[in-house]
Amino acid sequence: MKILVVNAGSSSLKYQLFDLEDDKNDVLASGICERIGIDGSNLHHETENGTEFNSDFEMPDHKVAVELVIDALLSPEHGVLQSLNEVEAVGHRVVHGGEEFANSVVIDEEVKDAIKACYPLAPLHNPPNIMGIEACEAAMPGKTQVAVFDTAFHQTIPDKAFMYALPYELYEKHGIRRYGFHGTSHAYVSEIAMELMDNPEAKVITCHLGNGSSIAAVNAGECIDTSMGMTPLAGVPMGTRTGDLDPAVVTYLMEHEDLSAEQVDSLMNKESGFLGVSGVSSDCRDLSAAADSGNARAELALKMFNYSCSKYIGAYSAALGGVDAIVFTAGIGENSPSLRLEILEKLSYLGVELDSELNSQKIGAYKLISTEDSRVKVYVIRTDEELKIAQETAALAE
Ligand code: ADP
Repeated sequence: MKILVVNAGSSSLKYQLFDLEDDKNDVLASGICERIGIDGSNLHHETENGTEFNSDFEMPDHKVAVELVIDALLSPEHGVLQSLNEVEAVGHRVVHGGEEFANSVVIDEEVKDAIKACYPLAPLHNPPNIMGIEACEAAMPGKTQVAVFDTAFHQTIPDKAFMYALPYELYEKHGIRRYGFHGTSHAYVSEIAMELMDNPEAKVITCHLGNGSSIAAVNAGECIDTSMGMTPLAGVPMGTRTGDLDPAVVTYLMEHEDLSAEQVDSLMNKESGFLGVSGVSSDCRDLSAAADSGNARAELALKMFNYSCSKYIGAYSAALGGVDAIVFTAGIGENSPSLRLEILEKLSYLGVELDSELNSQKIGAYKLISTEDSRVKVYVIRTDEELKIAQETAALAE
């Protein structure tokens, strides 16, 4: 079954065309449209046969971008399809589903209205997600379109964990609560961990550590807590985001640095985290290189990150009443043995024993990196949010 996966941002649109069979999940083609609505729009397209092209096109909006993607998929030179009829359905990444969506859904007018009702909660993400959906509806009328939400997996979190201790009316009026993000990734890697352990009841802590990072506590496949909050700003420190902060810091900054709400928001989202503390870079590799050559603030930023990740793992083992597995995924989680070691080295009291040899080896799709005797299994599992979106879409299309 061929499934097109679309991830639409404000000025970009990423896509992957999957061919899913029982045990097979081939990516036939993938690519990205960049600078949509800006001068110098560009489409990069590549196929599993190794053909690729990179071309500048006029892309005034997402509708034109989707038409160009379809042309590329059907093109005699770089195409992988004879006809669009071969595509069974289109799966869309949607960032915020609020309390409305605990699962992926087939998109209709009502679903689109509910996604639009979440605009205030994700003003930068949901509007372009809708643009991507409407562009695909226009270009492929009648084709099944499915929405897969970053927040859906976290909808099983109980109220004691998702509520903030603000006046209750603010939750009722504005939906101010913890939602959590990266749900597709946490769901994907926790499912694989449970399969690897052959234990559907397992208590799993998943650490998605990339440019944006979040940690989740998963009990028998159900998420019970996660580090991101109403927005993706909360939790551990990230590339450019603060992570958790005393909320009084916000009003203090507004008063004493004379900043507007918008300016504080930008400072906390774009100028903080690794970048803000180190003054070097938001990228973990740059930070590690700087720390290795003696930059104390780069070293401090990394220590803060490791410390925060360790604390979340400790907290979530308490929330779960134990832990059977810890999973690392995403750019940092998959690729940095030294950070994995530093995050876990104080956790031997939980029964975590890392095998330093396995931890330093290259990983494939997944790897067990704990010792044979370790009570808690530690896995590195390569995340694949697009594949998970394709699988959810295929299940609904069937
Ligand atoms: P995004 O959240 O944008 O999807 P990724 O999951 O790709 O991000 O993660 C990007 C982060 O992963 C960057 O901070 C990058 O430095 C880090 N990273 C990638 N490779 C390595 C590596 N070998 N060692 C340490 N960090 C790495």
